[in-house]
Amino acid sequence: MPGGPSRSARQWTYDACVRDTDLYRRILGLESPWKVDRVELDVKQQRVDVYAAHAKRKTWPCPECGRACGLHDHDEERTWRHLDSCQFQTHLHASVPRIRCDEHGVRQVRVPWAEPRSRFTLLFERFAIDVLLETDVLGAARILDISWDEAHGIMGRAVKRGLMRREHKVPEYVGIDEKAIARGQRYATIVCDLRDGHVVEMAPERTRESVVRCFGRFSLDELADIKAVAMDMWEPFVRTVGAMLPEAKAKIVFDRFHIVSHMNDAIDIVRRRENHALRAEGDDRLVGSKHMWLYAAENLPEHYAADFSLLRRANLRTSRAWAIKETLRELWDQPTHAAGEAWYKRWHFWATHSRLQPVKKVAKMIRRHLDGVLAYFTHRITNSASEALNSTIQMIKKRAFGFRSFDN
Ligand SMILES: [Zn+2]
Repeated sequence: MPGGPSRSARQWTYDACVRDTDLYRRILGLESPWKVDRVELDVKQQRVDVYAAHAKRKTWPCPECGRACGLHDHDEERTWRHLDSCQFQTHLHASVPRIRCDEHGVRQVRVPWAEPRSRFTLLFERFAIDVLLETDVLGAARILDISWDEAHGIMGRAVKRGLMRREHKVPEYVGIDEKAIARGQRYATIVCDLRDGHVVEMAPERTRESVVRCFGRFSLDELADIKAVAMDMWEPFVRTVGAMLPEAKAKIVFDRFHIVSHMNDAIDIVRRRENHALRAEGDDRLVGSKHMWLYAAENLPEHYAADFSLLRRANLRTSRAWAIKETLRELWDQPTHAAGEAWYKRWHFWATHSRLQPVKKVAKMIRRHLDGVLAYFTHRITNSASEALNSTIQMIKKRAFGFRSFDN
C-alpha cells in the first residue's frame, strides 16, 4: 500500500478495530470462559494491547490429566504476541489460573490461544511457520520482527506439533526438501506430508544422516506404508531413501519443482557467460535481466513484460536455454507414462543438441534418473510445499491489510 490510507481513514480503522472487543475475541480464538476485558491502543508505538479475562470458575482442567481441579491462584500476567491488526503489533495479556491437582501438583492451566511456554499465539506461530518455510530463519525474523532465537523456537514447536498431530502415523505421500536455514549454505532437511503440507520431521544439514534421522522416527513396518516420496535428484538422499524403503525404486519420484529449479540454475549460468561476452562487445542487453528468466512464462510480473518479450525473441543463447526449460514443463502434462517417455526422448534430443553446456548437463542428469522422473505418472505427486511460495506471498499481503482478512 504505497503511502497508506489517509490520516482520517486510518484513524477510522483504528477505532473500528479497537472498539470491537467481540471481534478481538474471535480473532484471538478466545473460548468461554475467556473473553476480552479491554483493548488499549497506542498510536505512537503502533501497538494494540488486548487484555483477556475469564469468568469466575471454581474448577479448571489439569493440563496433564484433564481432571477438574480446584483453583489455586493466578500467575503473574503474561503476554503473547499475536498477528498484527491494522499493521499494529498486537499483544495479548492474561493472568493464567493455576490449579492444584492431587497427582500433578500446582500447574498453570492451558490457554486456548497458545502452546504452553510459547510467547506467541497459535495463529501467530502458524503464520510464522509459513514464512519460515519460504525464507531462512534470519529473513523470517526480520519479516516478523522477532529475534532469531524466537524464530527458531517457533520452528521447533511446529515440528513437534506436526509429530503430535501425526499420532505416529506415517504419511502415504512424503516430500523431502532442503531449506536454507541461515545465510552461508546452512541447510535443514525437511520431511513433510504432501497431502496437507505439514512438516513431519526436520533434521540439520542435507546429508544421508539427515534423511536417516528424519525417517528413523518410524519403524520399518511403518516405512513400508509410504507409497511414494517426492524429492530432488540428490545422490545422498536417493541412496538413503533407497536403503530405507522397501521397493524404493518404484516409490521415488524426482519431482517437477526440483527438476525445473535445476534448469533455472542452468539458464542462470548461460546468462552470466553470455552477458560477460556481450558486454565485452559493448552490448548490455542482458544486464539486469537475471530474475526475468527464472519465472514461468505465465508468472512473469507485468513490469518485465515489455523487456522480456524482446529478449526471449532475440537470437540469444540465454533465450534458447529459457525456451528449452519452458518446454520441459510440458512433460508433466502428458497423459500417460508412455506418452511422457516418448515426449521426453524428443526433448532430450533437443536439449543435448543445444550446444548449451549447462543445459546438456541437466538433461543428462534427468536421463540418468528418468525412471524416477517418469514415476510421476504413477503417483502424480510433486513437492507442493516448495511451490507454496505464491500462497505465502498472498498471506504476507493479507497481513499487510490487517485484521479484515482474518475476519473470515
Ligand atoms: Zn493432573
